[in-house]
Amino acid sequence: VTPRSCSGSVTGVPGRAKVFVRALSSPDPDEIPCGCLVFSGIDDPGNRLIRYANHYFYEQFGFAAGGLVGSPLSGLLTKASTVIFDAYVVPTVLHEGRCSEVLLELQTPTGSKCPVVVNARRHSADRTLIVLSLFDTTQRDTLYQELVETRRRLEEKATILQHLSTTDELTGLLNRRELHKRAAIMLAEARRYETSVAVLVVDIDHFKELNDTLGHAGGDKILAELGKRFREQGRLTDIVARHGGEEFVFVVPKMDEFCVWRFAQRLHKIASEVRVPGKVLTVSIGISLSHPRDDLLYEVLFMRADKALYAAKAAGRNRSLIFD
Ligand code: GH3
Ligand code: MG
Ligand code: MG
Repeated sequence: VTPRSCSGSVTGVPGRAKVFVRALSSPDPDEIPCGCLVFSGIDDPGNRLIRYANHYFYEQFGFAAGGLVGSPLSGLLTKASTVIFDAYVVPTVLHEGRCSEVLLELQTPTGSKCPVVVNARRHSADRTLIVLSLFDTTQRDTLYQELVETRRRLEEKATILQHLSTTDELTGLLNRRELHKRAAIMLAEARRYETSVAVLVVDIDHFKELNDTLGHAGGDKILAELGKRFREQGRLTDIVARHGGEEFVFVVPKMDEFCVWRFAQRLHKIASEVRVPGKVLTVSIGISLSHPRDDLLYEVLFMRADKALYAAKAAGRNRSLIFD
C-alpha cells in the first residue's frame, strides 16, 4: 500500500516485502517517558514561572495533574539545587542556549527528595521560554550509593586484614614477619645515613613457672600487659615486636652504647611494674649494636643479641648484656 498524501519512507529487510512506515508529524509530549517542564522568566530569578508540565512529570513526581502551571519554579527544587540552578544552569543557558546533564534534587509534594538529571534549552520558537527534561535517577543513585558503601566496606576489611597480617594478636605488637621486613628497611636507612641501630632481645625470666602457677590464660594476661606497656613506651620510629612465646624484640635507630644501656634499664623497669601475684616480673635482655659504617644484616644483629641474651640468662637473669 502506498498512500499518496502522507509523508514517510519505504523500508524493509532484505528478502522480505517492503513496508511503508508512516511518520508521526508531532508526537504527544504526554507520551514521552521523561519529565518535561517549560518555564518563563529566565532573566528574572524572582519571577520564574512554570508554564507547562507534561503528564509524565505530574505522575512520576507525584504532583496533582495540571496543578503546577503558574507556580514558581523555585518551589520545585531543594535549596541546594536552587543554588546550582541559579549559579550554573541559568548562566549556561543564557550564554550557550542549552545546558546538559545537571544533577539536581526535586522537592516532591510528599516532602521527599528525588534526584533528577536535567537538560535545559531555550524554546526554539519563543526564546523567552526554557524547556527542561528531567529524568528520575533514584534507582541509579541507590545503585551508586550501594557501590560506594560496598567499596567502603571492602577498604575497611582490607585495613583489618593488613593489620592482622602484620600484628601479633595477643599483644598488639608487630609479628615476626613484619619485624624482619621493617628491620631490613631500618638497617638500609642506617647504612645510607651512617647511623647505628640497636637490636634488643627481651625474654621473660622463668615464665614457665608463671604459666604453671597462674595457668596458660594467666600467662597470656601477663604477656598482653607487658606487650601493651612496651608498645606505649618509646618513639614511633622504634620497632617493637613479639618474636614468639615470651620473647620480644626492639629495633631502635640512632643508638650508641650509652643510649641503648639506658633504654634497656627502662625496659627492666617497665617489666617490674607489671602486676604478677606473689613475685616481681623480671626480664633478661641481650643487645647488639651496629656501627655507622657496618654492613650487617638484621639476622646477624639478631643472632648476636640472642647470644648476649643467653649469656645474661647464664649470668643469673634479670640483667642486660651487650654483645662484644
Ligand atoms: P628462662 O628464664 O630461661 O627464659 O625460662 P622460661 O621458663 O621463661 O623459658 P622456657 O623457654 O623454658 O619457657 C617458656 C614458656 O613460655 C614455655 C611456654 O609454654 C610458654 N609460652 C610460650 N608461648 C606462650 C603463650 O603464647 N602464652 C603462654 N601463656 N605461654 C607461652
Ligand atoms: Mg623465658
Ligand atoms: Mg624464651
